Amino acid sequence: MKRAFVCAILLFMPVRSAAPSHARRLAAGPRLAESVQVRAALEWFDRNLSWINDAQARLTEIPAPPFQEEARASAVSELLSESGLPARVDKIGNVIGELRGATENEIVMLSAHLDTVFPAGTDVKVHRNGNRMTAPGISDNGSGIAALVAIARALEFAHIKPERTLLLVGNVGEEGEGNLRGMRELVETYGKKLKAVVVLDGSGTDHVTTKALASRRLEAMITGPGGHSWSDFGMPNPINALIRGSMRFINTKVPANPRTTFNLGQIEGGTSVNSVPYEAKIKVDIRSENEEELRRLEAALRDSIAAGVRDEMEPPRDRSKGALEWKVELLGSRPGGELSPDSPLLAALRTADEFIGNQSRTERSSTDANIPLSLGIDAISIGAGGTGGGAHSLQEWYDAAGREAGLKRALLTVLGIAGLEEAKSR
Ligand SMILES: [Zn+2]
Repeated sequence: MKRAFVCAILLFMPVRSAAPSHARRLAAGPRLAESVQVRAALEWFDRNLSWINDAQARLTEIPAPPFQEEARASAVSELLSESGLPARVDKIGNVIGELRGATENEIVMLSAHLDTVFPAGTDVKVHRNGNRMTAPGISDNGSGIAALVAIARALEFAHIKPERTLLLVGNVGEEGEGNLRGMRELVETYGKKLKAVVVLDGSGTDHVTTKALASRRLEAMITGPGGHSWSDFGMPNPINALIRGSMRFINTKVPANPRTTFNLGQIEGGTSVNSVPYEAKIKVDIRSENEEELRRLEAALRDSIAAGVRDEMEPPRDRSKGALEWKVELLGSRPGGELSPDSPLLAALRTADEFIGNQSRTERSSTDANIPLSLGIDAISIGAGGTGGGAHSLQEWYDAAGREAGLKRALLTVLGIAGLEEAKSR
Protein backbone atom coordinates (compact mmCIF):
# COMPACT_ATOMS: atom_id res chain seq x y z
CA MET A 1 0.00 0.00 0.00
CA LYS A 2 2.72 2.40 0.99
CA ARG A 3 4.75 1.65 -2.13
CA ALA A 4 1.72 2.33 -4.29
CA PHE A 5 1.20 5.57 -2.44
CA VAL A 6 4.77 6.74 -2.99
CA CYS A 7 4.60 5.87 -6.70
CA ALA A 8 1.41 7.84 -7.05
CA ILE A 9 3.01 10.82 -5.34
CA LEU A 10 5.96 10.61 -7.71
CA LEU A 11 3.62 10.61 -10.67
CA PHE A 12 2.13 13.84 -9.47
CA MET A 13 5.49 15.47 -8.82
CA PRO A 14 5.93 18.54 -10.91
CA VAL A 15 8.86 18.73 -13.27
CA ARG A 16 11.58 20.82 -11.68
CA SER A 17 12.94 23.74 -13.62
CA ALA A 18 16.10 25.67 -12.83
CA ALA A 19 15.61 28.89 -10.91
CA PRO A 20 17.52 31.88 -12.25
CA SER A 21 21.01 31.76 -10.76
CA HIS A 22 21.54 35.50 -10.76
CA ALA A 23 18.33 36.24 -8.98
CA ARG A 24 18.31 39.38 -6.93
CA ARG A 25 17.46 38.72 -3.31
CA LEU A 26 15.82 41.44 -1.30
CA ALA A 27 15.64 41.93 2.42
CA ALA A 28 12.85 40.39 4.43
CA GLY A 29 9.82 42.51 5.22
CA PRO A 30 7.34 44.12 2.90
CA ARG A 31 9.67 43.52 -0.09
CA LEU A 32 10.08 39.82 0.59
CA ALA A 33 7.65 38.89 -2.15
CA GLU A 34 9.70 40.91 -4.64
CA SER A 35 12.48 38.32 -4.46
CA VAL A 36 12.59 36.22 -7.62
CA GLN A 37 12.98 33.05 -5.58
CA VAL A 38 10.07 33.89 -3.31
CA ARG A 39 7.90 34.68 -6.33
CA ALA A 40 8.84 31.34 -7.85
CA ALA A 41 7.81 29.58 -4.64
CA LEU A 42 4.51 31.45 -4.51
CA GLU A 43 3.75 30.62 -8.12
CA TRP A 44 4.57 26.96 -7.46
CA PHE A 45 1.44 26.80 -5.30
CA ASP A 46 -0.76 28.22 -8.10
CA ARG A 47 0.55 25.68 -10.58
CA ASN A 48 0.44 22.58 -8.36
CA LEU A 49 -2.93 22.74 -6.65
CA SER A 50 -4.00 19.31 -7.87
CA TRP A 51 -0.74 17.79 -6.61
CA ILE A 52 -1.39 19.37 -3.20
CA ASN A 53 -5.02 18.14 -3.13
CA ASP A 54 -3.92 14.63 -4.07
CA ALA A 55 -1.20 14.61 -1.41
CA GLN A 56 -3.77 15.71 1.17
CA ALA A 57 -6.18 12.92 0.22
CA ARG A 58 -3.47 10.28 0.28
CA LEU A 59 -1.99 11.38 3.60
CA THR A 60 -5.46 11.59 5.16
CA GLU A 61 -6.12 8.00 4.10
CA ILE A 62 -3.15 6.80 6.18
CA PRO A 63 -4.69 6.31 9.64
CA ALA A 64 -2.99 8.28 12.41
CA PRO A 65 -4.84 7.58 15.67
CA PRO A 66 -3.37 9.04 18.87
CA PHE A 67 -0.07 7.31 19.68
CA GLN A 68 -0.12 5.52 16.30
CA GLU A 69 1.25 8.12 13.95
CA GLU A 70 4.17 6.04 12.57
CA ALA A 71 2.77 5.17 9.14
CA ARG A 72 1.73 8.74 8.36
CA ALA A 73 5.03 10.01 9.78
CA SER A 74 7.05 7.83 7.42
CA ALA A 75 4.99 8.98 4.40
CA VAL A 76 5.58 12.62 5.36
CA SER A 77 9.27 11.86 5.92
CA GLU A 78 9.57 10.46 2.40
CA LEU A 79 7.81 13.48 0.91
CA LEU A 80 10.07 15.92 2.76
CA SER A 81 13.18 14.00 1.74
CA GLU A 82 12.05 13.88 -1.90
CA SER A 83 11.69 17.66 -1.69
CA GLY A 84 15.35 17.95 -0.79
CA LEU A 85 14.86 18.49 2.93
CA PRO A 86 16.76 15.70 4.69
CA ALA A 87 14.19 14.36 7.17
CA ARG A 88 14.63 12.36 10.33
CA VAL A 89 12.23 10.93 12.89
CA ASP A 90 13.04 11.77 16.52
CA LYS A 91 12.65 9.42 19.46
CA ILE A 92 8.97 10.10 20.03
CA GLY A 93 7.95 10.06 16.36
CA ASN A 94 8.16 13.67 15.13
CA VAL A 95 9.30 13.98 11.50
CA ILE A 96 11.79 16.81 11.11
CA GLY A 97 12.88 18.14 7.72
CA GLU A 98 15.68 20.68 7.80
CA LEU A 99 16.54 23.53 5.45
CA ARG A 100 19.80 24.83 6.85
CA GLY A 101 20.14 28.58 7.08
CA ALA A 102 23.20 30.81 7.04
CA THR A 103 22.72 31.35 10.78
CA GLU A 104 22.43 27.74 11.83
CA ASN A 105 21.95 28.27 15.53
CA GLU A 106 18.76 30.25 15.04
CA ILE A 107 15.74 28.18 14.17
CA VAL A 108 12.28 28.94 12.81
CA MET A 109 9.90 26.00 12.95
CA LEU A 110 6.85 25.34 10.79
CA SER A 111 4.81 22.45 12.15
CA ALA A 112 1.64 20.49 11.45
CA HIS A 113 0.37 17.76 13.73
CA LEU A 114 0.15 14.28 12.26
CA ASP A 115 -2.35 12.75 14.65
CA THR A 116 -6.14 12.63 14.43
CA VAL A 117 -8.75 12.08 17.13
CA PHE A 118 -10.09 9.00 15.32
CA PRO A 119 -9.42 5.54 16.78
CA ALA A 120 -7.84 2.73 14.77
CA GLY A 121 -10.40 1.11 12.46
CA THR A 122 -12.19 4.36 11.56
CA ASP A 123 -13.01 4.50 7.84
CA VAL A 124 -10.75 7.30 6.60
CA LYS A 125 -11.45 6.89 2.87
CA VAL A 126 -11.57 10.30 1.22
CA HIS A 127 -14.63 11.07 -0.91
CA ARG A 128 -13.94 13.75 -3.49
CA ASN A 129 -16.29 15.96 -5.41
CA GLY A 130 -14.46 18.69 -7.27
CA ASN A 131 -12.60 20.80 -4.72
CA ARG A 132 -14.55 19.28 -1.86
CA MET A 133 -13.17 16.34 0.08
CA THR A 134 -14.91 14.50 2.90
CA ALA A 135 -13.19 12.20 5.40
CA PRO A 136 -12.42 12.10 9.11
CA GLY A 137 -9.28 14.20 9.59
CA ILE A 138 -9.32 15.72 6.08
CA SER A 139 -9.13 19.25 7.42
CA ASP A 140 -7.72 18.70 10.94
CA ASN A 141 -5.01 18.11 10.11
CA GLY A 142 -4.91 16.74 6.53
CA SER A 143 -4.90 20.32 5.27
CA GLY A 144 -2.04 21.30 7.59
CA ILE A 145 0.09 18.28 6.63
CA ALA A 146 -0.58 18.89 2.92
CA ALA A 147 0.49 22.52 3.36
CA LEU A 148 3.68 21.40 5.12
CA VAL A 149 4.77 19.11 2.28
CA ALA A 150 3.68 21.67 -0.34
CA ILE A 151 5.74 24.40 1.32
CA ALA A 152 8.74 22.05 1.44
CA ARG A 153 8.38 21.42 -2.26
CA ALA A 154 7.93 25.11 -3.11
CA LEU A 155 11.03 26.08 -1.08
CA GLU A 156 13.11 23.47 -2.86
CA PHE A 157 11.71 24.27 -6.29
CA ALA A 158 12.60 27.94 -5.85
CA HIS A 159 16.05 27.19 -4.33
CA ILE A 160 15.29 29.38 -1.35
CA LYS A 161 18.12 29.75 1.16
CA PRO A 162 16.91 31.15 4.48
CA GLU A 163 18.98 33.21 6.86
CA ARG A 164 17.78 31.23 9.90
CA THR A 165 17.49 27.46 9.73
CA LEU A 166 13.99 26.31 8.83
CA LEU A 167 12.59 23.15 10.34
CA LEU A 168 9.49 21.67 8.70
CA VAL A 169 7.95 19.31 11.20
CA GLY A 170 5.12 16.78 11.20
CA ASN A 171 4.63 16.32 14.92
CA VAL A 172 2.88 13.70 17.02
CA GLY A 173 0.52 14.07 19.94
CA GLU A 174 -1.49 17.25 19.44
CA GLU A 175 -4.95 15.81 19.96
CA GLY A 176 -6.52 14.71 23.23
CA GLU A 177 -4.32 12.63 25.45
CA GLY A 178 -1.35 13.19 23.18
CA ASN A 179 -1.10 16.21 25.49
CA LEU A 180 1.12 18.13 23.04
CA ARG A 181 3.94 15.66 23.67
CA GLY A 182 5.38 16.14 20.17
CA MET A 183 5.71 19.89 20.56
CA ARG A 184 6.99 19.53 24.14
CA GLU A 185 9.79 17.31 22.83
CA LEU A 186 10.66 19.72 20.00
CA VAL A 187 10.81 22.73 22.28
CA GLU A 188 12.97 20.80 24.72
CA THR A 189 15.31 19.65 21.94
CA TYR A 190 15.82 23.01 20.25
CA GLY A 191 15.41 25.18 23.34
CA LYS A 192 16.85 28.64 23.10
CA LYS A 193 17.72 28.30 19.41
CA LEU A 194 14.01 28.43 18.61
CA LYS A 195 13.19 31.97 17.51
CA ALA A 196 9.64 31.36 16.29
CA VAL A 197 7.12 28.58 15.78
CA VAL A 198 4.36 28.68 13.17
CA VAL A 199 1.77 25.95 13.63
CA LEU A 200 -0.46 24.88 10.73
CA ASP A 201 -3.66 23.47 12.14
CA GLY A 202 -6.84 22.95 10.12
CA SER A 203 -8.16 25.10 7.30
CA GLY A 204 -8.80 28.79 6.77
CA THR A 205 -7.00 32.10 6.35
CA ASP A 206 -9.32 34.07 8.61
CA HIS A 207 -7.59 33.77 11.98
CA VAL A 208 -4.31 33.80 13.82
CA THR A 209 -4.10 32.18 17.24
CA THR A 210 -1.85 34.35 19.39
CA LYS A 211 -3.21 33.39 22.79
CA ALA A 212 -2.91 29.94 24.25
CA LEU A 213 -6.00 28.64 25.99
CA ALA A 214 -5.08 26.82 29.20
CA SER A 215 -6.81 23.49 29.76
CA ARG A 216 -6.76 20.36 31.87
CA ARG A 217 -7.97 16.87 31.04
CA LEU A 218 -9.02 14.84 34.05
CA GLU A 219 -10.32 11.36 34.70
CA ALA A 220 -12.49 10.58 37.72
CA MET A 221 -12.61 6.93 38.71
CA ILE A 222 -14.78 5.23 41.32
CA THR A 223 -14.23 1.61 42.34
CA GLY A 224 -16.05 -0.84 44.63
CA PRO A 225 -16.24 -4.56 45.32
CA GLY A 226 -18.78 -5.34 42.55
CA GLY A 227 -21.37 -8.10 42.79
CA HIS A 228 -24.68 -9.54 41.66
CA SER A 229 -27.57 -7.27 40.79
CA TRP A 230 -30.08 -9.30 42.85
CA SER A 231 -28.19 -10.99 45.61
CA ASP A 232 -25.91 -8.04 46.35
CA PHE A 233 -28.55 -5.32 46.04
CA GLY A 234 -27.63 -2.50 48.34
CA MET A 235 -23.93 -2.83 47.70
CA PRO A 236 -22.59 0.65 46.80
CA ASN A 237 -22.53 1.07 43.05
CA PRO A 238 -19.69 3.01 41.35
CA ILE A 239 -21.91 3.98 38.40
CA ASN A 240 -24.55 5.38 40.76
CA ALA A 241 -21.88 7.33 42.60
CA LEU A 242 -20.39 8.62 39.36
CA ILE A 243 -23.80 9.80 38.16
CA ARG A 244 -24.49 11.47 41.49
CA GLY A 245 -21.10 13.18 41.45
CA SER A 246 -21.39 14.18 37.78
CA MET A 247 -24.81 15.73 38.39
CA ARG A 248 -23.29 17.90 41.10
CA PHE A 249 -20.39 18.89 38.85
CA ILE A 250 -22.64 19.78 35.90
CA ASN A 251 -24.38 22.30 38.15
CA THR A 252 -21.13 24.14 38.86
CA LYS A 253 -21.44 27.80 37.90
CA VAL A 254 -18.75 29.02 35.48
CA PRO A 255 -18.16 32.64 34.49
CA ALA A 256 -18.87 33.89 30.96
CA ASN A 257 -15.91 36.23 31.42
CA PRO A 258 -13.22 35.01 31.71
CA ARG A 259 -14.72 32.36 29.48
CA THR A 260 -14.57 29.02 31.25
CA THR A 261 -15.95 25.72 29.95
CA PHE A 262 -16.20 22.06 30.83
CA ASN A 263 -17.10 18.94 28.91
CA LEU A 264 -17.91 15.46 30.15
CA GLY A 265 -16.52 13.71 27.12
CA GLN A 266 -16.20 10.01 27.75
CA ILE A 267 -17.77 7.65 30.25
CA GLU A 268 -17.26 3.96 30.87
CA GLY A 269 -17.86 1.35 33.49
CA GLY A 270 -19.57 -1.91 34.34
CA THR A 271 -19.36 -5.31 32.72
CA SER A 272 -22.99 -6.45 32.34
CA VAL A 273 -26.52 -5.31 33.04
CA ASN A 274 -27.00 -7.78 35.91
CA SER A 275 -23.75 -7.00 37.76
CA VAL A 276 -23.06 -4.32 40.31
CA PRO A 277 -20.05 -2.74 38.58
CA TYR A 278 -16.68 -2.65 40.28
CA GLU A 279 -15.55 0.38 38.33
CA ALA A 280 -16.87 3.53 36.65
CA LYS A 281 -14.93 6.40 35.16
CA ILE A 282 -15.43 9.65 33.32
CA LYS A 283 -13.12 11.93 31.37
CA VAL A 284 -13.58 15.67 31.71
CA ASP A 285 -12.05 18.52 29.73
CA ILE A 286 -11.91 21.93 31.41
CA ARG A 287 -10.72 25.17 29.82
CA SER A 288 -10.46 28.77 30.85
CA GLU A 289 -9.01 32.09 29.83
CA ASN A 290 -7.88 32.32 33.43
CA GLU A 291 -5.65 29.89 35.37
CA GLU A 292 -7.42 30.64 38.66
CA GLU A 293 -10.82 29.64 37.22
CA LEU A 294 -9.20 26.46 35.91
CA ARG A 295 -7.97 25.58 39.40
CA ARG A 296 -11.40 26.36 40.85
CA LEU A 297 -13.14 24.11 38.33
CA GLU A 298 -10.69 21.28 38.91
CA ALA A 299 -11.35 21.51 42.65
CA ALA A 300 -15.09 21.51 41.95
CA LEU A 301 -14.73 18.23 40.05
CA ARG A 302 -12.87 16.60 42.94
CA ASP A 303 -15.42 17.89 45.48
CA SER A 304 -18.35 16.71 43.31
CA ILE A 305 -16.97 13.19 42.89
CA ALA A 306 -16.23 12.94 46.62
CA ALA A 307 -19.77 14.11 47.36
CA GLY A 308 -21.22 11.65 44.84
CA VAL A 309 -19.48 8.82 46.66
CA ARG A 310 -20.78 10.11 50.01
CA ASP A 311 -24.33 10.34 48.64
CA GLU A 312 -24.14 6.79 47.37
CA MET A 313 -22.93 5.48 50.73
CA GLU A 314 -25.85 7.06 52.58
CA PRO A 315 -28.94 5.11 53.66
CA PRO A 316 -31.76 4.22 52.76
CA ARG A 317 -30.18 0.90 51.83
CA ASP A 318 -27.82 -1.35 53.73
CA ARG A 319 -24.34 -0.31 52.60
CA SER A 320 -22.48 -2.83 54.74
CA LYS A 321 -21.33 -4.82 51.70
CA GLY A 322 -18.16 -2.86 51.04
CA ALA A 323 -17.17 0.71 50.43
CA LEU A 324 -16.27 2.83 47.41
CA GLU A 325 -12.98 4.45 46.58
CA TRP A 326 -12.43 7.35 44.25
CA LYS A 327 -9.66 9.32 42.65
CA VAL A 328 -9.33 12.11 40.09
CA GLU A 329 -6.23 11.94 37.91
CA LEU A 330 -4.73 14.56 35.65
CA LEU A 331 -4.48 13.12 32.12
CA GLY A 332 -3.12 16.25 30.55
CA SER A 333 -2.43 19.88 31.15
CA ARG A 334 -1.94 22.56 28.54
CA PRO A 335 -0.34 25.72 29.80
CA GLY A 336 -1.53 29.17 28.75
CA GLY A 337 0.45 32.09 27.33
CA GLU A 338 0.23 35.02 24.94
CA LEU A 339 2.23 36.41 22.04
CA SER A 340 3.27 40.02 22.49
CA PRO A 341 1.26 42.25 20.10
CA ASP A 342 4.52 43.85 18.90
CA SER A 343 6.37 40.59 18.23
CA PRO A 344 8.24 40.33 14.89
CA LEU A 345 6.33 37.10 14.21
CA LEU A 346 2.98 38.84 14.30
CA ALA A 347 4.42 41.61 12.13
CA ALA A 348 5.53 38.99 9.59
CA LEU A 349 2.03 37.50 9.56
CA ARG A 350 0.44 40.93 9.08
CA THR A 351 2.80 41.65 6.18
CA ALA A 352 1.87 38.31 4.61
CA ASP A 353 -1.82 39.11 5.11
CA GLU A 354 -1.32 42.44 3.39
CA PHE A 355 0.37 40.76 0.44
CA ILE A 356 -2.49 38.33 -0.16
CA GLY A 357 -5.14 40.95 0.63
CA ASN A 358 -6.29 39.17 3.77
CA GLN A 359 -7.50 40.38 7.13
CA SER A 360 -7.28 38.02 10.05
CA ARG A 361 -8.65 38.19 13.55
CA THR A 362 -6.60 37.13 16.57
CA GLU A 363 -7.90 34.20 18.57
CA ARG A 364 -7.35 32.31 21.77
CA SER A 365 -7.25 28.56 21.32
CA SER A 366 -5.62 25.37 22.53
CA THR A 367 -3.01 24.27 19.99
CA ASP A 368 0.59 23.12 19.73
CA ALA A 369 1.51 26.82 20.06
CA ASN A 370 0.57 26.62 23.77
CA ILE A 371 3.92 25.03 24.58
CA PRO A 372 6.29 27.62 23.06
CA LEU A 373 3.98 30.48 24.13
CA SER A 374 3.99 29.26 27.73
CA LEU A 375 7.80 29.39 27.66
CA GLY A 376 8.02 32.86 26.15
CA ILE A 377 8.93 31.67 22.63
CA ASP A 378 7.09 33.52 19.84
CA ALA A 379 4.47 31.23 18.30
CA ILE A 380 1.24 31.39 16.35
CA SER A 381 -1.20 28.84 15.00
CA ILE A 382 -2.86 29.50 11.65
CA GLY A 383 -5.07 27.64 9.18
CA ALA A 384 -3.59 26.12 6.04
CA GLY A 385 -6.01 27.84 3.62
CA GLY A 386 -9.22 26.66 1.98
CA THR A 387 -12.30 26.10 4.12
CA GLY A 388 -13.39 23.19 6.26
CA GLY A 389 -15.86 22.05 8.86
CA GLY A 390 -17.04 19.23 11.06
CA ALA A 391 -13.63 18.83 12.70
CA HIS A 392 -13.43 15.75 14.96
CA SER A 393 -16.59 14.28 13.37
CA LEU A 394 -17.00 11.54 10.78
CA GLN A 395 -18.55 14.15 8.43
CA GLU A 396 -15.45 16.32 8.41
CA TRP A 397 -14.97 18.16 5.10
CA TYR A 398 -12.48 20.39 3.36
CA ASP A 399 -12.94 22.65 0.36
CA ALA A 400 -9.67 23.42 -1.44
CA ALA A 401 -10.99 26.46 -3.33
CA GLY A 402 -8.65 29.38 -2.69
CA ARG A 403 -6.20 27.30 -0.68
CA GLU A 404 -3.24 28.95 -2.42
CA ALA A 405 -3.86 32.14 -0.41
CA GLY A 406 -3.35 30.21 2.83
CA LEU A 407 -0.22 28.51 1.50
CA LYS A 408 1.28 31.84 0.44
CA ARG A 409 0.38 33.41 3.76
CA ALA A 410 2.13 30.61 5.66
CA LEU A 411 5.24 30.66 3.45
CA LEU A 412 5.59 34.46 3.57
CA THR A 413 5.15 34.47 7.34
CA VAL A 414 7.82 31.84 7.85
CA LEU A 415 10.25 33.53 5.45
CA GLY A 416 9.42 36.90 6.95
CA ILE A 417 10.73 35.70 10.31
CA ALA A 418 13.50 33.45 8.96
CA GLY A 419 14.82 35.96 6.41
CA LEU A 420 16.65 35.22 3.18
CA GLU A 421 20.32 34.31 3.22
CA GLU A 422 21.74 37.33 1.44
CA ALA A 423 19.57 39.84 3.22
CA LYS A 424 22.23 40.27 5.92
CA SER A 425 25.03 41.17 3.55
CA ARG A 426 23.05 43.92 1.90
ZN1 LIG B 1 -5.71 20.04 14.86
